[in-house]
Amino acid sequence: RKVLVTGANGYIAFWVVKDLLEAGYEVRGTVRSQSKAKYIQDYFKSYGDKLEIVVVDDITKPGAFDEYVKDVVAIEHTASPFHLNIDDPNEVIGPAVAGTTGVLESAVKYGPNVKRIVVTSSTGAVLEVFDHPKTFNENDWNNQAIQIVETKGRAADAISKYRASKTLAEKAAWKVAEANKGKVGWELVTIAPPFVYGPPIQETNDSDPQSLNTSVRDWFNIVLLGTKDSQFVANNGSAWVDVRDVAKAHVLALSTEKAGGERIIVSTGVWKWQDWINIARKLTTEVPPGAADTYDAAKTVYALDYEQTKQKAIFGINLIEKEETVRDMLKVFEAKGWWP
Ligand code: NDP
Repeated sequence: RKVLVTGANGYIAFWVVKDLLEAGYEVRGTVRSQSKAKYIQDYFKSYGDKLEIVVVDDITKPGAFDEYVKDVVAIEHTASPFHLNIDDPNEVIGPAVAGTTGVLESAVKYGPNVKRIVVTSSTGAVLEVFDHPKTFNENDWNNQAIQIVETKGRAADAISKYRASKTLAEKAAWKVAEANKGKVGWELVTIAPPFVYGPPIQETNDSDPQSLNTSVRDWFNIVLLGTKDSQFVANNGSAWVDVRDVAKAHVLALSTEKAGGERIIVSTGVWKWQDWINIARKLTTEVPPGAADTYDAAKTVYALDYEQTKQKAIFGINLIEKEETVRDMLKVFEAKGWWP
């Protein structure tokens, strides 16, 4: 019962590995260099040889995963660039797409025992930007971001480049699954989370919170350091889910029969930055007020949301609420000496 987890040192993947080991699976995790193996091996050392870490230095190389799918029953493909420091869109689209098709093709050729492949997609592959509020569901695809990148190239905004990479990667995954339907023993599941927050347990440079993964780093900077003005925090937001619930969904996706062949959004609800600030201010000192004096959560308009019908029917996770997410993130920041 071995599961391949790509990008095992990442923020989400670390929790996926933890939950898989706790559920009794063996795990083979891939990292990009040997230097990234030690921390995860040490973190899970109580599991002994149930966790194996291998180096796949370039996920875009044809056959990069061939050796590593042969004895596994499932794959959790999380590795994909998530940063917003992008010039050429192909810097992110290249590895997102080639990494995804690569691991699926390896499973087609060399993974006779593979029963499930879970690809970590994103609601970036779902949402499109409108000038009115909209609630999206699993039938929605972000063709808008692809179009923006096709028209503007390098001049496109970074978030569109990232969203295009996720949309194209997920479409590529479904294409490989479709082309091999009936010929392989596995079904694809894609999990699409919105912004993911909650305790980061992956390796960080403990003298520098800026070494956090993108989503948690932005949260730290905007909520705790107050890097944006009151106008911004009162008006900008999105949807979110706790990292522990994302990990749960990844593990349930392996064992839940009806998840097979499904695209599933896993989202807890909406937020504006000021909502996070207000919660943090109740739990810890020195948080800048943002728009605390004028903001009214009951009157604010949340620009987008996601339907929860499908995730409830398939997974039925009792989702973690904002207060718990904030409390447990703060605990990690405090332990590292980053806050207050
Ligand atoms: P992290 O940056 O913590 O993890 C990303 C992982 O992917 C790391 O292991 C990283 O390796 C690897 N990776 C990045 N670029 C490449 C590349 N070019 N080639 C090979 N491996 C690469 O981010 P998250 O844990 O947040 O992201 C994991 C997945 O979740 C991604 O697919 C992301 O798109 C998705 N996601 C994340 C959300 C969030 O809010 N955090 C929301 C929705 C989806 P290395 O450490 O060596 O760079």
